[in-house]
Amino acid sequence: MPNAEDRHRFRPGSKIDLHEVATSAPRNEDKEDAERELAELKERLFDLQERLYAERTRSLLLVFQGLDGSGKNSATNHVFSGVNPEGVHVTAFKVPTAEELAHDYLWRIHRAVPGKGQIGIFNRSHYEDVLVVRVDEIVPPEVWRERYEQINQFEKLLADTGTTILKFYLHLSKEEQKKRFESRIEKPEKRWKFSLDDLRKRAQWDAYLKAYDDVLERCSTDWAPWYVIPADDKWYRNLAVARVIVAALEELDPRFPEPAEPPGGWDHLVVE
Ligand code: AMP
Ligand code: MG
Repeated sequence: MPNAEDRHRFRPGSKIDLHEVATSAPRNEDKEDAERELAELKERLFDLQERLYAERTRSLLLVFQGLDGSGKNSATNHVFSGVNPEGVHVTAFKVPTAEELAHDYLWRIHRAVPGKGQIGIFNRSHYEDVLVVRVDEIVPPEVWRERYEQINQFEKLLADTGTTILKFYLHLSKEEQKKRFESRIEKPEKRWKFSLDDLRKRAQWDAYLKAYDDVLERCSTDWAPWYVIPADDKWYRNLAVARVIVAALEELDPRFPEPAEPPGGWDHLVVE
């Protein structure tokens, strides 16, 4: 039995058909236990983030991808509530602007990568350039096909220069997406989250799953692994994501810097 945090890691070299992969919580997981465990993980995350920030030598990049309604935004809200916002930066990647389109597709991504001591969260990412761009045929296949290897090399550069990368694909079922869309449509205070484009993308469901299969098979690497997180049960989605993040930070083991001893020692330092 692998560690809980490794359970959903997509092993490099594996094959996948996302139609066959569970979207609900594993049977041995319990909602009440999960809530307790998540609360504990959040305390550890608070402490680890503070150390990472104080140490200022390394950074953590978290990439969130998933179809509309899968909870890319909500998962990070839940896991990171309680963490000092100064050390966390969220970037949501939308349809590229004219300036972004005038550059290579990684330009806007690279400038949003977290600096030393920071945690960067990407809500969508450079992976859109092999997902929506492929499904909507925004560029020809010979262009997007080259990108998997470019992305792997880009992520290798980041990893080699002190950025730990964790990528989460939030795996939602088509039935659960329908429920979430209906709830967004019914509740006036949730309608802002809904767009007609979401329905157009829902109609391309199979093409998206195929595009995600390829992302996982081609871009889950030792230096930037993908995790396939079942996303129908929000409580499990949050727990599974938090487990991976906390385990990775504990492995990094960031330490508070030890400032040089002042002349005469700390015990004799007086604040007038
Ligand atoms: P949302 O995340 O729901 O606010 O929507 C953002 C939209 O931007 C989604 O429909 C994405 O597919 C789209 N998007 C993000 N990155 C790209 C990209 N590189 N090219 C085209 N569309 C993109
Ligand atoms: Mg959306």
